[in-house]
Amino acid sequence: MANVLFDTLFARHQNNDDDFLINPDGSTLTYAAFLAMAGKFANTLQALGANPGDRVLVQVQKSPEALAVYVACVQTGCIFIPLNTAYTTSEVEYFISDAEPAVIVCDDTARSALTELTTAAVVSLNADGSGSLRDAAENHPNTFETVARDATDVAAILYTSGTTGRSKGAMLTQDNLLSNAETLVDYWQFTRADKLLHALPIYHTHGLFVASNTIMLCGASMIFLPKFNADEVVSHLPDATTMMGVPTFYTRLLAGDGLTRELVGHMRLFISGSAPLLAETHEEFEQRTGQRILERYGMTETNMNTSNPYDGERKAGTVGFPLPGVGIRICNPESGAELADGEIGMLEVKGPNVFAGYWRMPEKTAEELRDNGFFITGDLAKRDSDGYIHIVGRDKDLIISGGFNVYPKEIELVLDEVDGVLESAVVAAPHPDFGEGVVAVLVADNDTSIDINAAQETVSAQLAKFKQPKSYLVLPALPRNTMGKVQKNILREQVKNTFTSP
Ligand code: AMP
Repeated sequence: MANVLFDTLFARHQNNDDDFLINPDGSTLTYAAFLAMAGKFANTLQALGANPGDRVLVQVQKSPEALAVYVACVQTGCIFIPLNTAYTTSEVEYFISDAEPAVIVCDDTARSALTELTTAAVVSLNADGSGSLRDAAENHPNTFETVARDATDVAAILYTSGTTGRSKGAMLTQDNLLSNAETLVDYWQFTRADKLLHALPIYHTHGLFVASNTIMLCGASMIFLPKFNADEVVSHLPDATTMMGVPTFYTRLLAGDGLTRELVGHMRLFISGSAPLLAETHEEFEQRTGQRILERYGMTETNMNTSNPYDGERKAGTVGFPLPGVGIRICNPESGAELADGEIGMLEVKGPNVFAGYWRMPEKTAEELRDNGFFITGDLAKRDSDGYIHIVGRDKDLIISGGFNVYPKEIELVLDEVDGVLESAVVAAPHPDFGEGVVAVLVADNDTSIDINAAQETVSAQLAKFKQPKSYLVLPALPRNTMGKVQKNILREQVKNTFTSP
């Protein structure tokens, strides 16, 4: 029996002397050297007592070593669980109790606190690659006899960001990861000649699977930056052929003068995902650089689902078409009946990319996975007459005011066009009369001030009365997480007393 994920993505690189990772200082790590490091880590994990199927919880800064821990987990048949580096020790305590890991890998600064919380072996890995993991690995050989795994075995658990309720562990099988990487290499035409500028975190599906698995599958290389910094990205773009980013990468690049047509004229592809890319950003990027960003849509539970085409029209404000092998339906959220084109409904996904369920949460899994195999994403969407999918927002962001459905995105698109508005977010606040009242949160463009009367006039000219915001709030910036998603739960909390007294 084989280990199809390891064999297909990694094993064939064990004697590959091509560069895999290019560090910020220009030094490189070959595939062979990277796989040798992963082999040493695999031996170390086994020596620490991690058996196939055991969980390895990893909360470390981005580094080549951190990526090698993922590969080591695949090779040993352990389940890799990366955690957001922003989580505090008390948050990590929940993940420890839920995942019951055999080994925890963390920064030296967290080691003693985590050791007190667990009986698992705790080893350290710091941002520069140092720590007790590397020290222990020195004593082990760099080859390891790969543990056999089935394609349906769980390779990784990624916890969802959990803005409401407990964070859920999405179980991703070997085949989920491999099938998606194969599809993406093909769809986005990656070859070993590519150099991907990688400034994403690697605890999230975007930087970990979408970027890294795709690159390893085609044998290309990555300029591996510890985090996004617009000036650094500008200085490395001349060496890259492609970049994957969240929308904030693009808005921050556009905010500086460094991004020019000459700088990126040689680039093959810019990809955006993980949060909606404003059509305005898409257009501004094209005007500045001549490049049309390719927007795609996916989520932790499903890997990538849809993408704008590589060769055809990349339509701003849409996430393109279902990827090959992926089934997409837009349904009535209650009945599950499929809706006609143009109608807004729940987006459901089926395919080899869809996860195996939530770790130790069979009821949650049953609620979100239909008997016919479709996963209920929680995203509201519509399909236009050309077949492009438009994401309208999360269903939990839907506002019901006076019994009418209000889709925040529709109002945000109108508000974004108001003079002086850089961006907007529309949320609900409890309303004594309407149940929920629409609140608009606006951010001003540079130093301009926003004329609220003008905003009100624009919305009254374009939107039915029940959709019009009943209150406006101007903030210096919208709260966003590291993946660029607007944290509407924070805004809802902030405006909750707008129409009622506390
Ligand atoms: P995550 O599980 O953190 O990757 O978040 C997945 C969610 O991000 C999806 O369910 C969508 O709500 C959102 N998302 C991802 N990509 C896009 C996109 N291109 N446009 C709009 N929303 C997106």
